Amino acid sequence: MKNRLVSTFVACVSLAVTQRTIAAQTIDWKAIGDEAIRLLQEYVRIDTSNPPGDTRQAADFLTAIFEREGIPVTRYESAPGKAIVYARLKATTSPAAGKPIVLLHHMDVVPADRSQWKIDPFAATIEGGEMRARGALDMKSLGVAHLMAFVMLKRQRLPLARDVILLAEPDEEIGGAMGARWMIANHFAELDPEYVLDEGGFGSADLFAPGKLVYGVAVAEKKILWLTVRATGVAGHGSQPHDQNPNDRLLRALARLLVQPDPPDRVPERPALREAIVDLMKARVGTLAANKFPNAIQHSTIAVTWVRSGVGDPPKINVIPSVAEAGLDCRLLPGVTRGEWIAEVRRRLGDPSLTIEVINESDDAIVSPYDTPLYRSLESAIRRVHPDAIVTPMLIPYGTDSNAFRPRGVKSYGIFPAILSAETVASMHGDAERVPIDGVRESVQILYEALREALIR
Ligand SMILES: [Zn+2]
Repeated sequence: MKNRLVSTFVACVSLAVTQRTIAAQTIDWKAIGDEAIRLLQEYVRIDTSNPPGDTRQAADFLTAIFEREGIPVTRYESAPGKAIVYARLKATTSPAAGKPIVLLHHMDVVPADRSQWKIDPFAATIEGGEMRARGALDMKSLGVAHLMAFVMLKRQRLPLARDVILLAEPDEEIGGAMGARWMIANHFAELDPEYVLDEGGFGSADLFAPGKLVYGVAVAEKKILWLTVRATGVAGHGSQPHDQNPNDRLLRALARLLVQPDPPDRVPERPALREAIVDLMKARVGTLAANKFPNAIQHSTIAVTWVRSGVGDPPKINVIPSVAEAGLDCRLLPGVTRGEWIAEVRRRLGDPSLTIEVINESDDAIVSPYDTPLYRSLESAIRRVHPDAIVTPMLIPYGTDSNAFRPRGVKSYGIFPAILSAETVASMHGDAERVPIDGVRESVQILYEALREALIR
């Protein structure tokens, strides 16, 4: 009796394993890719422009898919119209090997100025192998790649060593207060992930280094520090210039600020942190391309984004004002503190009479560890498709929802594993936003295989 039970059990297990192996081998990636593109078209056609950032219809769309696939789904509304949806696949092993993996994407998109678009930005038009549409790149394509990989885990009945959660949020494009940050503040216990997969990095054959296929996996973001520089002086008649004109003072200071190269040596960049990310990327990739993206990920940067002065609107041309101001959007490498950077800006401005005010700052940058099973699975899934690819941890110059998770000890990786040209990357938020269709197809497969490998450990 006992023996028969054991042998029946063994037979069942081996049958299950065989079925799993067969199932895993018989995935029709062409059909899965077609399904992903169809879903992406439907998703893009739901206008989630932010503002107003109403994501209820997008959440309905995702909810219907989860229900059809028999996956439990939970829904919240952080504010009127700001729908949040998450679906959960439970671990099949007990105890689970670890805390969940969250597949995170934002449903909202930046607004589209229809007068500048040559086509309807929400028609999801496919032409020449690309979909041109608002949200095609940022980030409904990765959202759909997450969705398909997630649904495939269920359809393939894979044994899961931990829970996998797909979380779709509103509000990222205006800071995430009612999206990721709201979920973390109000429902963190329901997620409590070890890992988050998010947007941030991608593959490119020209953006990072000419002629090299590089996949940058975002493991950290630069710190945002927004400053106002103010010069004050004495108002007067434009016919009699004097040396107390705040415009002169501000312009000379800004010229001194901008004429100096990025100062890698002047501001201590905590060598351990810099080596861990910028130097490591350079060691793996070699010389980085000379364009604005690699520049921004190697240096702390300053962009003068506005200059404001004059009396009246429109400003009077014959009046010297008493105040002139400029806005500086500074982005700091990990390890550079607010105090150090302000001291550096002050030194470069070279005028102690100017005042500097902080108008916004993000948390100090946190680097997610990348010596982890999930990172290695991502790397090997990419390299199975492109054996010549260089996969590297990367710092990104812009902000994502991952920065809300990293301070909670969550390891967050930003990667849309599609190959994007520098031109395509630059189309983000622009009036020709687009995504290569083959890239979306490939992303589904890479993400599925990375998750499968990480989850069967
Ligand atoms: Zn985005």
